[in-house]
Amino acid sequence: MARPDYIICLECETEVEDFTWREGAIQRANCDVCGNTDPDAFSLPEDFDQEFEVEDDEHAEVEDEEDEDEADFKADLETDEDEER
Ligand SMILES: [Zn+2]
Repeated sequence: MARPDYIICLECETEVEDFTWREGAIQRANCDVCGNTDPDAFSLPEDFDQEFEVEDDEHAEVEDEEDEDEADFKADLETDEDEER
C-alpha cells in the first residue's frame, strides 16, 4: 500500500500531513490541531470515507455471504437434532 498524502485525525477530523508511514501502516502521527499523537486515533482517507459512504454493490455482496452462512448453520442444527432423536 502506498503512503497516503495525508491521514485523518479521528479526534478532530483534521487532515494531518505530519506522520510517519511504514510497512503499510501509520507508525507515528502528530495532529497540530488537537495534539493527538496516538497512531490508532488516525485513519486513512479511504478508510475514513467508507464509514460514511457505503457502496451498494459491496454491501450487497456481504449480505449474500452472511445469508449463506446462516442457512448452512441452520441446516447443520437440523441434522444434529435428527441424529439425537
Ligand atoms: Zn486532531
